[in-house]
Amino acid sequence: MKDNYKSALQIQDGIEQPAQVNPYFDFSQVKRTAVLSEREYIEGILSGNKMILSKAITLIESSLQKHHDLAQSILEACIPHSGKSVRIGITGVPGAGKSTFIEAFGKHLTERGHKLAVLAIDPSSERSKGSILGDKTRMEELSVDAHAFIRPSPSACSLGGVARKTAETLILCEAAGYDVIFIETVGVGQSETAVHNMVDFFLLLMISGAGDELQGIKRGIMEMADAIVINKADGDNVKKAELTRIQLTSALRLFPPAQSDWKPPVILASALYKSGMDEIWQIINQYKQQTTQSGFFEQNRVRQLKERFNAFMQEELLDNFYENPQVKQAIEQLQQQITDKKINPYTAGKNVLDKYLKLIEN
Ligand code: GDP
Repeated sequence: MKDNYKSALQIQDGIEQPAQVNPYFDFSQVKRTAVLSEREYIEGILSGNKMILSKAITLIESSLQKHHDLAQSILEACIPHSGKSVRIGITGVPGAGKSTFIEAFGKHLTERGHKLAVLAIDPSSERSKGSILGDKTRMEELSVDAHAFIRPSPSACSLGGVARKTAETLILCEAAGYDVIFIETVGVGQSETAVHNMVDFFLLLMISGAGDELQGIKRGIMEMADAIVINKADGDNVKKAELTRIQLTSALRLFPPAQSDWKPPVILASALYKSGMDEIWQIINQYKQQTTQSGFFEQNRVRQLKERFNAFMQEELLDNFYENPQVKQAIEQLQQQITDKKINPYTAGKNVLDKYLKLIEN
């Protein structure tokens, strides 16, 4: 009787689950030009196949309507497997040494067992002209590193469009097993804010001896930084770099405390001679530990998700509106009437919106 007694506390053998990834599928056989099914894309990404990951990113970046649904399904399938990386934004004016730094810091990480994806946001870049990361001369070592994946910035369109594609690419990379993601931005204008909105840690690369104006770094960008790295602290530059470090440290003290309660350190490094890399990685880990404990890390990610949600709706609504053939026609006609002073812009705008709302009601 006792033998037959089954306690709820007993461990029962579960039913063996099939692997999420088909272990028999030979991805090396996938041709570059082959049309893949949704399942093949997802399995390829989850198994860490770089070629399939690249093809999926191309779908995400495509503006063709026929790619839209497939890209969305792939993205949604990847989301449960995402979120486990450390997302690091890297900015600095051209010449500060970003690509040299990414190569040195990236190698430092891959040599220690990390899988690194390097993405970029450069709304001004056009792929055909060789975008900032597409340039073959940059990141020579990383580009052939089996543990690194480098993807140039999506080709030129609006910053919002580039940012959205990069944020989606980040999810795919995480699902493919990359546990550290760098997002590089050229240090001019708005793209820093876009990157700041999708990373956990924001790193500003500066050089010594040049005033803030000279480096083109706006106060707002310094305020966003979780760490400032003074690069090129080597040779004759070391003394100047140390001085800049002291100046920047006291300048940062004048800023209001960050929401994260983290005090951004100023670190000396030389990407060329690969010094300071370990210190930077330790600081990032310290940040992660401190903000995870305080709850800020998660709060920040939730804030970013809500922002994505809003941005997604805005972009989809705008597309839906402006791509509607009847709306397009009405806008064209009304623009002519505005030119001819036959209608004022407010009445014209209201006319188009009324028309659109009626269209979607039916
Ligand atoms: P980016 O435009 O910010 O990507 O800058 P690059 O990485 O292309 O670097 C610009 C120049 O600075 C190149 O000639 C690099 O060799 C040089 N450079 C980059 N990092 C260092 C460094 O740590 N020390 C020295 N001395 N030169 C560096």
